[in-house]
Amino acid sequence: MILTPTMTGIASPAPLQHAFKVKSAPHAGRGGSRPVFLEPQQWQQWWQQPSQATERALYIHIPFCRKRCTFCNFFENGTNPERISRYMQRLTEQLHIAADTPLSQSQPFNTVYVGGGTPTDISSDEVKQLGEAISRFPLVDNAEVTLEGRLNGFDDDKWHNATANGFNRFSFGVQSFDTQVRQAAGRFDDKDFLLNRLQQLSRHPSASIVIDLIFGLPGQTLDVWQQDLQAVIDSGVHGVDLYQLIGLSGTRIENAREKGKILGTALSEFQADSQARANMYASGAHHFEAQNWQRLSSCHWRRDSRERSIYNSLAKSGIEILPFGAGAGGSIHGHGCMNARDLKQWHQAHDDMHSTEATAISAIALNPVQVPGMLMSPNPSASLDAIFKRGLDSGKLTLNLLTPEMCMHLQPLFIEWQNNGLAECSAQALTLTLAGRFWNVNMQTGLFEFLAKNPLPAQTSNQLAHGTHAIAG
Ligand code: SF4
Repeated sequence: MILTPTMTGIASPAPLQHAFKVKSAPHAGRGGSRPVFLEPQQWQQWWQQPSQATERALYIHIPFCRKRCTFCNFFENGTNPERISRYMQRLTEQLHIAADTPLSQSQPFNTVYVGGGTPTDISSDEVKQLGEAISRFPLVDNAEVTLEGRLNGFDDDKWHNATANGFNRFSFGVQSFDTQVRQAAGRFDDKDFLLNRLQQLSRHPSASIVIDLIFGLPGQTLDVWQQDLQAVIDSGVHGVDLYQLIGLSGTRIENAREKGKILGTALSEFQADSQARANMYASGAHHFEAQNWQRLSSCHWRRDSRERSIYNSLAKSGIEILPFGAGAGGSIHGHGCMNARDLKQWHQAHDDMHSTEATAISAIALNPVQVPGMLMSPNPSASLDAIFKRGLDSGKLTLNLLTPEMCMHLQPLFIEWQNNGLAECSAQALTLTLAGRFWNVNMQTGLFEFLAKNPLPAQTSNQLAHGTHAIAG
């Protein structure tokens, strides 16, 4: 049995700050899939086959931003109205075609997420057209339909077109309310503008308004963080995500750090280290829970039941997600797919399709264009991985979702987590402590590493079983 500190963390009187050295990655995952090549004919067949999924989603990617934020490595294409308009025309055409296919029509969609980039930078008419295109897909009653973006440029006209055309959830990247920290991070607008606008939008009778905050930004002192947390309450929003800044290569913050610089504010060059970030996470959790906000995952809290966070929750469960747009990721018929981010290639694929011989025209009219990207074979452990990811992310892994063999197999790891202050074990569940919730991505990564180095014989691991399995320790 191989157990390493990268799996278990280390024993410490202060596990929140010291159980691991640093957050390992934004998300955890493991191999098991391999790239596959799909012939154009098979692609056409995929769209003509009904789905086997019981829950599913649409993901639509809008890869444009007006400005590159210092912490982000998702910036793909600068905004310019003509470029966006050409893209949106193609994208909505493809959505119309896809919506009519047997694959789309065979099962309703639980949730739709329009992400980016900055989707709110599309024009008001384009918001309307996008909403109309989404409404052609079969959606469950009260499906959650999210538009992501930022408040800057999201005027009343866009807001009214969005709410009138099916969007019922809005996710805005605020990151910090502090005007100086925002400027240092390359964000538009000041605190007063953000607070006023969020208060206006949050008065809507049914739409859910959620925001993201990042902790660990340059210049964001612990005092500034406390003010950020209070501003969330004051803004009237219905939900909040707290994300730790990760030093992703290629970001301006990371490039500066490699040269020994901090892109701080005029007032402060403070940048929280991993231990200070752990304290910021804890103060965020305490702040919202003291106000009776409910924790839906390790990083997401809601004020009331209007906020459901269905997409984020289901995406972690490995459901089918039909992806649209350059840079969109998802899965079709169990195959992971990631469309290439290059906009030129994406447009070229559409141009090529439209110039093919007349014999192929009927297929083109019936199915969306196959765009460049990566396809993966079905993950043999998909359902098991989904249980681990969703359980650890939510803070509670229910053990009767696992086979007795798997529970026994993982027992040494679970006991180490308990010894290290990251979790509490009972016969029914592994419940993460506050420290465990802070380090939950490291724990997910550690669990997958544990299974890779200590495989279960005959891989019975992906079968689900019901029953209760005691964990000692
Ligand atoms: S954080 Fe959002 S708006 Fe800023 S560069 Fe990244 S994707 Fe664009």
